[in-house]
Amino acid sequence: MADVLTVEHRSRVMAAVKGSGNKNTELRLIGIMRLGGIKGWRRNCSLPGKPDFVFAAARVAIFVDGCFWHGCPIHCRKPSSNREYWLAKIERNRKRDRKVRELLRENNWVVVRIWEHSLKHPQQVISRLQRHLAR
Ligand SMILES: [Zn+2]
Repeated sequence: MADVLTVEHRSRVMAAVKGSGNKNTELRLIGIMRLGGIKGWRRNCSLPGKPDFVFAAARVAIFVDGCFWHGCPIHCRKPSSNREYWLAKIERNRKRDRKVRELLRENNWVVVRIWEHSLKHPQQVISRLQRHLAR
C-alpha cells in the first residue's frame, strides 16, 4: 500500500514539474530566437543527448535546461518529500549532461546549455547565441 501511494505521489509531482517543463521552455526559446532574427535551427536531431535545437552548419547544439531537472544552483529547491529519490534523479541528469557535452565536443560540436531562468532575459540569450553562431 505504501508503495502504491509513493508511486502515485511521484507521478503527481512529476506531472506538476513537467507542466512547467521542457515543452514550455523550448517554445519560449523559439520566441526569443524569432525576436533576435536567429534562423537556421532544427529540432529533433539524432545527436547524443537529443539537443533541443541544432544549428547544423555552425555545429552548435543547444540545450534548454529546466532549473529543477538539471539542478540549477540558484533555483533547484530540493523537494522535502522523497528527497533521496529526487536528489538521485537530479544527480543522474547532471552526470548525463556532462557526458553528453563531452561526447558532442569530441565530435566538434559547440554545446550551449541555457538555463530556463535565463529565458527571462531574452537579449542576453540572443547575444550569447549570436556569439556562438558567428564564429
Ligand atoms: Zn535557475
